[in-house]
Amino acid sequence: MNRIYFDHSATTPIDPAVFEAMRPYFLEKFGNASSIHFFGREAKVALEEARELVADFCGASANEIYFTSGGTEADNMAILGVTHQLSEKGKHIISSRIEHHAVLHTCEYLAKQGFDLTLLKPDKFGEITPQQVAEAIRDDTILVSIMHANNEVGTINDIKKIGEITKERGILFHSDAVQSFGKIPIQLSTMNVDLMAMSGHKIYGPKGIGILFVKRGVKLLPITFGGAHERNRRPGTENIPGIIGLAKAVELCKEQLASDEERIGQLRDLLYKKLSEKIPRLYLNGHPQKRLAGLLNVSVQGIEGEALLLSLDLKGIAASSGSACTSGSVDPSHVLSAMGLKPELAQSSIRFSLGRGNTLEEVEYAAQVLPEIVERLRAMSPL
Ligand code: PLP
Repeated sequence: MNRIYFDHSATTPIDPAVFEAMRPYFLEKFGNASSIHFFGREAKVALEEARELVADFCGASANEIYFTSGGTEADNMAILGVTHQLSEKGKHIISSRIEHHAVLHTCEYLAKQGFDLTLLKPDKFGEITPQQVAEAIRDDTILVSIMHANNEVGTINDIKKIGEITKERGILFHSDAVQSFGKIPIQLSTMNVDLMAMSGHKIYGPKGIGILFVKRGVKLLPITFGGAHERNRRPGTENIPGIIGLAKAVELCKEQLASDEERIGQLRDLLYKKLSEKIPRLYLNGHPQKRLAGLLNVSVQGIEGEALLLSLDLKGIAASSGSACTSGSVDPSHVLSAMGLKPELAQSSIRFSLGRGNTLEEVEYAAQVLPEIVERLRAMSPL
């Protein structure tokens, strides 16, 4: 059976060029970047070149880029590192109800430790407005953490404007950009963010590698302890193959970002058009325009998202319901619930996330198969 992958927001396949770039760093160039001999120096040079490349891509300086084990660790480092550093100054944190659990659970952990947490509610499109942030700020606010683009519905927040507000009020601003990095332009020098989390495996790079941007001058306590790696902020022998792979993936994004997003956006729009023509009571979740190009999240009234997923899987199509990290849970998505969807509609949602490898034929196949599945399931449904 031909398999079709429409789950690029969960993870992407490694680009063959990324894999080739990594290969020597497993086999021949395996040195520890802290060693002073040739092997170590070779790894160190590659590490710093990768840092330069990543920094250049997102408009940062190399010394503002820290490599981590992924987006989750980067989010944890940012939020815990800042709040521990500033807990004397204040204990109020502002975040939102649509954050990935890497942010949400970290903030909830802090709330249990005595921090005061305000979670902003998005509008019906999943957007957090700068005005909401401005209104939530208090004298004891020490950190605002609002994601750049949402992983379930793709809605893009106006990070620059939110950052203008935090900057004016002298409050640190972290943004989880795991989904937007490599897909929409990020220019950190002009975006008014102090910290940003990014990840490799959403951009055709390897899993287990991520980036934390920390603006020069921002004080951050480490959250793990060990050696002096990553300028004393993130101990542990650097994952050189992962970092090289991430840098190669970034290089490819640099070349292809605009053309990829245009093509993927057209495929996504076509898929939505065809599905909405053929399936009655199908509703789009997320912002109709301010949304990542690859993301299509819809609710099919009267049918459980999980049932749709299983039927699609039998037809060779891989999609997702809610966030992959929470699949297995029967609760409706926290993002859709926060956006105000009734539990019934939140539970009948399905996410297609298209990527670089998808074709017109695949979209046409899905647009033919899903309406058939819906018709069959609706015929069986007692509702
Ligand atoms: N933040 C967002 C918005 C995500 O979508 C994800 C992964 O799905 C993460 C954080 C976690 O990133 P990682 O898988 O690299 O730890």
